[in-house]
Order: sequence, then structure tokens, then C-alpha cells
Amino acid sequence: MPRPIRASFNLSALRHNLDVARRRAPGSRVWAVVKANAYGHGLLRVARALYDADGYALLDLNEAVRLREAGIAKPILLLEGIFQPDDLELVDRYGLAMVLHDFEQISMLERARLSSPVAVWLKLNTGLNRLGFAGSQVRAAYGRLQASGRTASISLMTHFADADGASGVAAQMARFAEWTAGLGGEVTLANSAAILRYPETHADWVRPGIMLYGCSPFADASAQALQLRPVMTLASEIIAVQDLQVGDRIGYGGIFVAQRSMRIGVVACGYADGYPRHAPGSNGNITPAIVAGKRTSTLGRVSMDLLCVDLSDIAQAGVGSPVILWGEGLPVDEIAARAGTVGYELLCALAARVPQAEIE
Ligand SMILES: *Cc1c(COP(=O)(O)O)cnc(C)c1O
Repeated sequence: MPRPIRASFNLSALRHNLDVARRRAPGSRVWAVVKANAYGHGLLRVARALYDADGYALLDLNEAVRLREAGIAKPILLLEGIFQPDDLELVDRYGLAMVLHDFEQISMLERARLSSPVAVWLKLNTGLNRLGFAGSQVRAAYGRLQASGRTASISLMTHFADADGASGVAAQMARFAEWTAGLGGEVTLANSAAILRYPETHADWVRPGIMLYGCSPFADASAQALQLRPVMTLASEIIAVQDLQVGDRIGYGGIFVAQRSMRIGVVACGYADGYPRHAPGSNGNITPAIVAGKRTSTLGRVSMDLLCVDLSDIAQAGVGSPVILWGEGLPVDEIAARAGTVGYELLCALAARVPQAEIE
């Protein structure tokens, strides 16, 4: 028998979350962001379940090809465009759309031999300072694309640095408006946080990622408060039980010390499954888990294949009892916050060794 750990994916929750994005941005089309293997949820699984999206956005050319080879005919947008001239052959063959963020990429396009023109999104760096054209470059970039004869359309895009935080979107919105004044084309601006908090960012297309997977992009609003439903549930079972006396320690480094006699369960899940090693488990600083339907806490350091939970108040729990590490009833955001990270990272880091299942 394989280890009892399993990640299950609730496809109706996924579709529900897409509906939430649509209801929040009713006038916009939706690029479902499926980069990083759909945030760890499985690229094809998610793309098929989200058949109602208007298009799919991702980074990796191979992932784009996989979608096309699987029969997906909707628009596919490469969020970082191309990395070398050869990439354009695949862009052409598979009819991909692409974001262009620098003159080097425009040069590659100008020199390419294409069977048909490409839908291009010009990326503006309005303040995130990662990728995109500066204000002073926008007109030149746009002009070169127009003159190239290789574009089916030229659309405009930027990405927000702090739509989930205190700075908001105003400064970036103002730059975008100023730099693009008078330029034609469709516009896409909003990630999940902007979709949920700033209707003025919705424009022609929105780009929800994390909200589709049922996580909150905000530190100060839960997924539940945003009506989002968790898609991934990471579950396992108790595979051993230990009775501890006062002073007994748990796990590597012995960072948890029993202050009373207690019963603990050993769970078949560790950091090699994607559970964060930094989830705390020392006295007074623990991480929640659900055992046999009851909320309890992890204890001790997370090891590669195992972690421990407190069963002292769950008399009915024993070997074989189900354990939810995150997902249904226990938001991954909560585990992430305890571990000093964000839900995005935990979802993306689900390990390949964890068996997967789908729930319709
Ligand atoms: C990842 C990404 C998104 C989605 O962001 P979320 O915060 O997950 O909604 C949107 N746009 C771009 C360019 C991205 O890279």
C-alpha cells in the first residue's frame, strides 16, 4: 500500500472561484493564470476544469504546448514572452499570444519568419521594476511593433506591486494612463488582489491566479470572507501513536517538551511532501491541523516524511485516523502565515511524490 498521504482537488470549487472573479469583474474577459503547473494543482486538470475561462496565461513555452496538444483551442498568453528567437517557431506553430517586455524581444519578432501575425501584449513597468518598458520607451516600442507587420494586435499590460498592500494601485494606474494616452489596444492590469479590491483596474481582461485556487491575496481578509473555496486539500493519516510523560520531547532537536502526559499521533506527511519545515511546533508556538474532524496542532519539528500532532483531546483518534494538513476546513493561508510565507508558495511546492485525486 502506498503511504496514506493524498492531495485532492475540488474542481467545483475551482469553477466557483472563477465565477467569483467573473462576478467581481463582470465587464472583463478572464485570463486564468495557470503558471507553475497551475499553482501546483495540475496544468491540464485546471485548464480543463476552467473551460469557461476566456484564455490561459502562463510562462513556460512547454506548458503552453502541452495545453495545445491536449486540444485546448482558447487563447494562451505567454506572460514573459520569448527567451530566444527559436521560441517564435513554437509561438507561430501553436498560435500563442505573448507579452513583450524589452527591445530584445521586439527585435526577435522583427526578424522572425511567421506563418501568421501574433497577438502581442506590450508590458509597461509602472513601478514593480521587474519586467517592462519604461515610460520613455513605450512609444518607441509600440511604433516598432506597428511597423513590424508581425502583430495581429497590440495590447497593453502592466502588473501591480502592491494591490494587496497599503500602497494600492493609484500611482501605477496614473503612470499607465499617462504613458498609454492615445494608444489603441486592449488593456489588462489586474491580478487577484486588484480584481477584488480595485474595480477601476478591471479593463478588458483580468488575470486572476491565486483566487482561482481559493486563497486570499490579502493578509487582512480570509478566503472565506472573499467567498473563495479551497481547491487543494492535503490529507494524510495517523500511522503511529505515542504516549508521552512530562519532560518527554518530540522529534528532531526536541523542540517541543511535554508539560503533562499526552498522546501524540505521527502523521505520514513531511517537508518532502511540500509541508513547510518552518511551520512551528514548539511549546506555545504551534501550527493547526485537523484530526478526525477536530482541530488540533502540530508538535515538534517537521521532518522529511513525518510530523506529529496532539491527540490528547481527541480520544477517538488513533492509527488510521484522517488528518487534514490544509484545504477543506483549514485554509492553506493559515498554515502559510504560521510558517512565515504565503499560500502561493505552499501550493506551488506540493511535491510530485504526493498521489493526487480529483473531486468533481
Ligand atoms: C502570477 C501573475 C498573475 C496572477 O497573480 P495572482 O496574485 O496569483 O492573482 C497575474 N499577472 C501576472 C503577470 C502574473 O505573473
